[in-house]
Amino acid sequence: MEEQKPEGQLRPGEKAIDLRTSADAELQFIGSIRTPWKNRADCPRQGSFDGPLCSIEVDETWQPALAGLEAEASLDVLYWLHQATRNLVLQMPRGRSEPAGTFSIRSPNRPNPIGVSTVRLERIIGNRLEVRGLDCLDGTPLIDIKPHRRPRFDDSR
Ligand code: SAM
Repeated sequence: MEEQKPEGQLRPGEKAIDLRTSADAELQFIGSIRTPWKNRADCPRQGSFDGPLCSIEVDETWQPALAGLEAEASLDVLYWLHQATRNLVLQMPRGRSEPAGTFSIRSPNRPNPIGVSTVRLERIIGNRLEVRGLDCLDGTPLIDIKPHRRPRFDDSR
């Protein structure tokens, strides 16, 4: 599922490394995200609060963990970008002329491909959350859900 980009498939300016083989941490997927997008190219770059309604299907064993969440207007959703390339240190995003360091951009391609979106919570029906603001493929594994909290400082940079 997680692709490692071989040398020959790199865009000019991109740089890949050999990945370590051992894992340091284990994640538990807690559900799955349903969106209208079947291909990466069709997904928005970032979600929008007035985007299409999407569903977050939480595994039934984790349904009790949703208690109290209905009081929240916006949530941070973390998900595993399962089709990402994981060995790029420099990337050439479309439309750019210079390569960018992986940690300086929000590309899905990163060593631990965790995506984060702040979404508007419309409603919760059983173990299903209906939200707006996602940008991921249909079937993307769900890692976590948290109430959204505003940053404590405003940086005008
Ligand atoms: N909002 C998240 C963030 O900032 O962490 C993800 C942003 S990333 C730029 C969104 C893009 O990742 C989409 O436009 C799509 O091209 C790609 N993508 C979406 N779902 C993916 C998946 N399951 N695996 C790999 N790439 C995915």
